[in-house]
Amino acid sequence: MAGILAARPRGGAGSGVRGPSRGRVRSAAAGSRLGGMGPERGNDEQWREKLTRDEYRVLREGGTEAPWTGEYVDEKRRGVYRCRACGSELFASDTKFDSRCGWPSFWTPMAGDRVRLLSDDTLGMQRTEVRCANCDSHLGHVFYGEGWDNPDDARFCINSISLTLEPVEDQAA
Ligand SMILES: [Zn+2]
Repeated sequence: MAGILAARPRGGAGSGVRGPSRGRVRSAAAGSRLGGMGPERGNDEQWREKLTRDEYRVLREGGTEAPWTGEYVDEKRRGVYRCRACGSELFASDTKFDSRCGWPSFWTPMAGDRVRLLSDDTLGMQRTEVRCANCDSHLGHVFYGEGWDNPDDARFCINSISLTLEPVEDQAA
């Protein structure tokens, strides 16, 4: 059960889920891409309808937005960053840090099982791709060992266009 890719049934407290077939998603998480099993997975046509062309290119085709162009690069508001494709809660604002790399950077996801990590050796580089565990959309990459002052020395380098910030309204307390 431990570890980043640990599988456990969804739909428990606080997972903010919709859709009836949550339990079935887990077994397919290891390998399948667009499984077409349930609303979160969707099929290509549904994604094209739901997402803008730019969102589709990044989320569903693994594209990357140009550095320094994303709306959340310098975002400082508190809140929760959700997957723009499916709404799953992925990153908290208090794990966001200023990496000066041109993309929003986080040192950890909200929980290890919110994202899925895949090895990616495209572009002649050995990288680790980060995808939404719920809908399998591409989010960005994670880099380790760069010397960041956080527990895993990690930088989750995430496209703004893959996220939607849900700001916390009251900051009075
Ligand atoms: Zn998602």
